[in-house]
Amino acid sequence: MCGIVGYMGSKAAYPILIKGLHRLEYRGYDSAGIALLSDRLELNVYKTKGKVADLERFAESKDVSGCIGIAHTRWATHGEPNEANAHPHYSQSKGLALIHNGIIENYTVLRTELESKGYTFRSRTDTEVIVYLVEYIMQTNRVDLCTAVQLALHQVIGAYAIALIDRNNPDEIIAARKSSPLVVGIGEDEFFLASDATPIVEYTDRVVYLNDEEIAVIRRGEPLKVVNLNNVEITPEIKKLAMNLSQLEKGGYPHFMLKEIFEQPRTLQDCIRGRINIEGTQVVLSGVIDNRDKFLNAHRIIIVACGTSWHAALIGEHLIEDLCRIPVEVEYASEFRYRNPVIHPGDIVIAISQSGETADTLAAIELAKSKGAFIYGICNVVGSSIARATDSGSYIHVGPEIGVASTKAFTGQVTVLSMLALTIAQQKGTLSQTRFEEMVKELQGIPDKLSKVLKNSEVVKELSKIFTYARNFIYLGRGYNYPAALEGALKLKEISYIHAEGYPAAEMKHGPIALIDVEMPVVAIATTDSIYEKTISNIQEIKARQGKVIAIVSEGDEMVRGIADYCIEVPRTLEPFAPLVASVPLQLLAYYIAVNKGRNVDQPRNLAKSVTVE
Ligand code: GLU
Repeated sequence: MCGIVGYMGSKAAYPILIKGLHRLEYRGYDSAGIALLSDRLELNVYKTKGKVADLERFAESKDVSGCIGIAHTRWATHGEPNEANAHPHYSQSKGLALIHNGIIENYTVLRTELESKGYTFRSRTDTEVIVYLVEYIMQTNRVDLCTAVQLALHQVIGAYAIALIDRNNPDEIIAARKSSPLVVGIGEDEFFLASDATPIVEYTDRVVYLNDEEIAVIRRGEPLKVVNLNNVEITPEIKKLAMNLSQLEKGGYPHFMLKEIFEQPRTLQDCIRGRINIEGTQVVLSGVIDNRDKFLNAHRIIIVACGTSWHAALIGEHLIEDLCRIPVEVEYASEFRYRNPVIHPGDIVIAISQSGETADTLAAIELAKSKGAFIYGICNVVGSSIARATDSGSYIHVGPEIGVASTKAFTGQVTVLSMLALTIAQQKGTLSQTRFEEMVKELQGIPDKLSKVLKNSEVVKELSKIFTYARNFIYLGRGYNYPAALEGALKLKEISYIHAEGYPAAEMKHGPIALIDVEMPVVAIATTDSIYEKTISNIQEIKARQGKVIAIVSEGDEMVRGIADYCIEVPRTLEPFAPLVASVPLQLLAYYIAVNKGRNVDQPRNLAKSVTVE
């Protein structure tokens, strides 16, 4: 997820690496570290929790000499953000240092194997196994670093961008990638390495973007060599960087929010990674499996959350009741904590929060705990207060979310809730294996479907121009799509400051329909599902009163197209996953309208990212 920088040349590496880390700060992180091969050929590793500036302070009095080094900003996925877990990680003998972005899915298996051979680990990360394994292979097979990395990566399942340096070789950096980005910059007798071109652009415009399962062999005095895991040499394609620095910030997007919206195909892949077996016949959300009996015997599940997380919770309610046949209640954490709720020891309370610091949700957890409930957390930030206060849980693994209005965290929460419901359903036998596998396959295909939705972003952008000056909006959806409508309305409110309300479509006639006239835009989620015809009737009711209808429809839809004023198509999917695909165009609509109005999209007025007050 976060940042990698590397340098080898004739200049002092430290200032280049630190500047590079600063350039990557926009990606978000919780700790930082650096490894330098000093002039005295010592492999020095300095790392600290906190900011790059903290690392600089920490390294002030240390030996920062050396013309070769690697540096890292970490965003914890396994093991809380602290000094021990920060990268670089030494190998067991401290002869190698490694940095890693991504997630190693099979790290427990590898770790246990290495432990049985007498290795002792220093951190709780998934990363450390790689460097231990590489060293083990170097020693037992008597091979060089590059060969050992190739052999080790054959054993690793997951996503990685890695870089390693060896105490015994001041003239080499080995770097590799799979599913996490890595770029090599080629200068005059010097090489740079980074997660994106931002740290490189001021030194050289010649770069090579590594492809999956490619290894960069960076050696002093030699041209860049790229090989694959089987040691077949690949001719590197040297590209000329056409970007300037300001474009490179925020990964080339004008706002973090847009970057995060566009990241969703990848973040959902990261979220699913390692939790579904290769054959797609089993979902293994470990927090649920480890507490199998509690989930199987639960009489009731209560989900507590605030804001966007509360909307994800409503989708979770549908999923769990639908697939697992366990009654679910969804509560605003702020209401729950003050109303003396009835909780029995057999109840499970699921708390959802992106930051894991939401004060109301934390208080709700404490209350539920005091009444004997089992508490399960769904958070993004590893080691956060909620992650620590809960009995068990799942991280959503979508990487740091910086835009205040939540986007990728929402889809990550819904994805985890989908996997949670599927895990319980499989364990409980409430879903046939055929239906289960059909759903798993569909869930695995959602990232690709989101990519398709995002390819249509221009359509949404054009549409946004028509509605920039609307004063009110209504969002409608039914069933699984009702919470998606609420979330669509919330996004618009948060960043454009336009008044918007979400309703279950059929509720309109019980009051809100009085608001409909020619000036009222109505966003209707009308994807093809079991209540499609009913939603169409609701759209007809709006049209009969001159409302302007923007409909989110399934690809190839004819019926709604004939009625609505504007249609945005999304790929067809199974009903429970419809909110995942339908939410993305709504995020884009809110975003473009807010941009048209000149709003501060990433930091809307009066809002905070992590709501640590009640
Ligand atoms: N999974 C690794 C860790 O938790 C790397 C995280 C990152 O990409 O920064 O340490």
